Amino acid sequence: MTTNPPWRRHRRRRAAPRALLLVAVLSATTLTQGAGPSVSDGPLPSNAVLRTSPPSPPRPGPGPGPGGSGIGDPYWPQDGNEGYDVRTYDIDVRYRFQRRRLSGSTAVTLVPDRDLTSLNLDFLLPVSSVRVAGRPVPFVHRGHELTVDPPQTLPAGRRVTVAVTYAGRPGRHEYADAPGWRATSREVLVQGQPHMAPWWFPSNDHPRDKARMTIAVTVPRGNQVIANGWPSGTSRSGTLVTHRWRAREPMAPYLAFFTAGQFTVRRGVTDGIPWITGVSRGLDPRDHRDALTLMRSTPVLTSWLQTQLGPYPFGSTGGVVSGLRIPMALENQTRPTFPRTGSDTYDLVVHELAHQWFGDSVSVSSWSDIWLREGFAEFMALRYAETHGGRSADAWLRQMYRTGMRGQWRFSIGRPGREDVFARQVYDRGAMTLQALRNVVGEDTFWQILRRWSSLHRGGSASISDFRRLASRLSDRDLDEFFRAWLLDRVRPPSSADLGLGP
Ligand SMILES: [Zn+2]
Repeated sequence: MTTNPPWRRHRRRRAAPRALLLVAVLSATTLTQGAGPSVSDGPLPSNAVLRTSPPSPPRPGPGPGPGGSGIGDPYWPQDGNEGYDVRTYDIDVRYRFQRRRLSGSTAVTLVPDRDLTSLNLDFLLPVSSVRVAGRPVPFVHRGHELTVDPPQTLPAGRRVTVAVTYAGRPGRHEYADAPGWRATSREVLVQGQPHMAPWWFPSNDHPRDKARMTIAVTVPRGNQVIANGWPSGTSRSGTLVTHRWRAREPMAPYLAFFTAGQFTVRRGVTDGIPWITGVSRGLDPRDHRDALTLMRSTPVLTSWLQTQLGPYPFGSTGGVVSGLRIPMALENQTRPTFPRTGSDTYDLVVHELAHQWFGDSVSVSSWSDIWLREGFAEFMALRYAETHGGRSADAWLRQMYRTGMRGQWRFSIGRPGREDVFARQVYDRGAMTLQALRNVVGEDTFWQILRRWSSLHRGGSASISDFRRLASRLSDRDLDEFFRAWLLDRVRPPSSADLGLGP
């Protein structure tokens, strides 16, 4: 994720990459489709807060029992659930722009870890029915927790499908201070972190449980839908059109998205990677033109990132610039979503695309591991600058070390606490930590570590401890002190060569 201030700050340090990019962009195959009238932003719907209940502890010991209502995240204990692993989500929803109402059903195919007498899903919208293996079952829905009570125990290891039918106005629901639903009467974007799924589909909402997804969204004819992965067809019924997308690689629920409205859509194949970009036609003409220019960089920057980090982990790439007034860009899997930012905020695009390796393909094990996402994505934006005529990441490190921001060393970025998970320090000190590591272990070993990290945990999730062990092993060094000083201490690390700050 990147919030508003960072890309403005980055402009100062950014190089002039346009010429290089344009040459590459021109070699990409493009094809344009889709058009419609301009739209304008309207007010966001008012929100009502729903009560949440405390998580129940997982049931220990042998024998059948209920699944837990939290997966064990230290910051959001109700996130995710315990007792099963989701394999696929098949989401099929209809969206009504005027009423900002979503209705439909989601089939969650999962495998219990142990014999379950009940299980929880994370979901906020009103539920009308739940079926397990095709049969209606009782359920209890309190706030964020949907507890499904099948009459028979769900046996460990046996795949079962839980289908939930629901309808509601997502903008009326809040959970864990999340911003909720972003919509006008003509455009909607599902974008949020660390939570977003509970506003539109029931899930095991934690990056530790990823699953493949199909996303079908029905909207009135004349609108388009863009989501993760690749389109898998449309079908018409009267004035409605259902748009289907398929995300083939496992995905954390919060990274799933769709946007609906009217967009200029472009697609092509660059260096063997198919891509799709969308730009809202709700933007004013100049913003729309700038956004089209920016989105042309996404396949090229995906290719560039491959030269740095190894193979792109997914089957397609791209991006979407929203016409809504959204406060941040987010690394939605295969297709990051952006607010209007101008035509040349390439470092922002690099940041969100770098997340495809760091955060999306290799997810955090817990939200306390956020450094593995934001520090790494931010470092790749610095790497982009230093390889495109800007200053070196090391020069940036030393300047940040000397000056930094107010409160720079206020908390541990390796254990930031819930309030500071997305604080600027995690990004800046996070990237400083990686450049300092590069100084300590040397250029070749450093890039070997990043590539090995990406391949080792591809499609899974991992922790800071996992990274520390890998870096120590590949560099043949004891890096405990290094990581303690950079990630855990709340003071500026001493200026020493062992900490990457030698002369
Ligand atoms: Zn980010």
